[in-house]
Amino acid sequence: MKILFIEDELKIADFVLQGFSQHGFVTEHFTQGNIGLQAALAGSFDVIVLDLMLPGMDGIDILKRIRQVGISTPVIVLTAKGDLNDRLLGFEAGANDYLPKPFYVEELIARVRALLSRHAGDAELSNLSVGALKLDRISRRVQWHDHSMVLSQREFTLLEYLMRSPGHIFTRKQILKHVWAIEFDPQTNVVDVCIQRIKKKLTPTDTSHSTSFPIESIRGVGYKLRQDDSIS
Ligand code: CA
Repeated sequence: MKILFIEDELKIADFVLQGFSQHGFVTEHFTQGNIGLQAALAGSFDVIVLDLMLPGMDGIDILKRIRQVGISTPVIVLTAKGDLNDRLLGFEAGANDYLPKPFYVEELIARVRALLSRHAGDAELSNLSVGALKLDRISRRVQWHDHSMVLSQREFTLLEYLMRSPGHIFTRKQILKHVWAIEFDPQTNVVDVCIQRIKKKLTPTDTSHSTSFPIESIRGVGYKLRQDDSIS
């Protein structure tokens, strides 16, 4: 799950970003309204968390603009402006939910999840499949052939990352950055261990099909997800 987060107060941003990361969300954060809008227009996000009073461009104007161009991504408005008129203005501009400051990050995460499930009817948002491998982004359940498992947040984020670009080779460095938010080489084999766990969880011991699990190790480089895994 990928969140666009536009908030200029760094103290708030810090604890929200930490909470999102702990819950397995990948977040792009911007402090300037106008730059946040460019990101909303250019990228594809599952949820947008938007502050209203921002430098560069007001949150309401950002919201109006993204609805105007037809982006229907659910938006949670996050602001100190708690009175009814501001809330109504937010909903009128196309907000899906509203959370007044101060708030608990747990509540924000619960609201993000609730919005995601409300939009779960949109199969494109909730399901991702590559060959016989299917992933439900709401329940974190993954199915390979007839075997299904709930993965941990890290395992899920890693598998989703590979599944978004089947056939593409990702380096360990890229995977570390995306899944663990680590920019340096931690001198450990966390990526390899995590991939082994995913394979183990999804490959039952009494395998009735002949194909091997479609994550392939590319020696000296990293990993890729095979895209030719046919549905049995
Ligand atoms: Ca603000």
